[in-house]
Amino acid sequence: MGVTSTIGNLFCQIRLLLFITVCAMIVGWFGFYVKDSTHYFPKYRTQVDNSCKCLPSSEKKLEEVNRSPAVVEETTQHEVEAKICPMLSPQLKGVVPLTFSPNLNLEDVQKKYSMVSNGQYQPKTCRAQQKVAILIPHRNREKHLLYLLDNLHPFLQRQQLHYAIYVIHQAGDVKFNRAKLLNIGYLEALKEENWDCFIFHDVDLVPENDFNTYLCDSEPKHLVVGRNVTGYKLRYEGYFGGVTAMTKKQFAKVNGYSNNYWGWGGEDDDLRYRVEFQKMTVVRPSVEIARYTMIFHTRDAGNEVNSQRMQLLRKASKVWKTDGLNSCSYNLLSIEHEPLYINITVDIGRPHH
Ligand code: BGC
Repeated sequence: MGVTSTIGNLFCQIRLLLFITVCAMIVGWFGFYVKDSTHYFPKYRTQVDNSCKCLPSSEKKLEEVNRSPAVVEETTQHEVEAKICPMLSPQLKGVVPLTFSPNLNLEDVQKKYSMVSNGQYQPKTCRAQQKVAILIPHRNREKHLLYLLDNLHPFLQRQQLHYAIYVIHQAGDVKFNRAKLLNIGYLEALKEENWDCFIFHDVDLVPENDFNTYLCDSEPKHLVVGRNVTGYKLRYEGYFGGVTAMTKKQFAKVNGYSNNYWGWGGEDDDLRYRVEFQKMTVVRPSVEIARYTMIFHTRDAGNEVNSQRMQLLRKASKVWKTDGLNSCSYNLLSIEHEPLYINITVDIGRPHH
């Protein structure tokens, strides 16, 4: 009897001890989790839907997050490589006033951002989450390009990105073809570096809030929710123009843009159709952060509204597999590595009709 009760007591004590240990582990784990997660999602949570920090499983390596506390000045290259920058950089400032000085010139901007070399930059203290190529289609908009470069470089650097800016310049005076230039930018940029993420960027849109991160997501991302000229409202439900972010893989999956939209309009809707054909969904950051200032301009000569865009859109489902990256033919005229951007000049041919 006495022995039985001693053994019974011993079991009780062991069970109590086990219970206390499990409780302590749960409390400890919860504390760590809360502390850690607040680091990634402060003031501005970026995605409207539950899409924010995930990436396709094949790109899981991009998902790693930085858990080390202090930024050490004297880090070796090896340590920098090993330390991944956080999803949300500690250098973000939120809304930063934009500058559009009328006297701005390229030399001044180059002096300001001398840390950018050959159009490319990478953070000094950590390895960027993704390698991002910014593609800007261009013709006759030198001043806009200058304003964009002046505002975009510090914006991207505060986001601790490894990035390069590619300007794809359409030679000649045939109608402008934004989509084909972007396809060319994608193909040419990949010959230089294995970029993870592509930002398709209009030259006249300047981001206002650096929490609008230029990183790709698990789904194609549309970054222009609001613009100053349209009351900071989404233009229409399916709007996918202005600035968009797609991984290398997502863009390849939709066969890029159509090459057949000459003049203004339609090519961005066509890309959204392709995204939908491939069962992907467009995600957007919140309206408070995905805001842009549009630099005012009148319609350019050579970029008249494309009156055939609706007909083209109706055919999208039939042609997308054979019209895109896999059929993009062009004559590469030059690639110049300027200090602040890589200038790709191309002859893109002319419309067939
Ligand atoms: C055009 C798009 C354009 C949008 C907003 C649509 O009618 O097809 O290309 O982005 O209007 O301006």
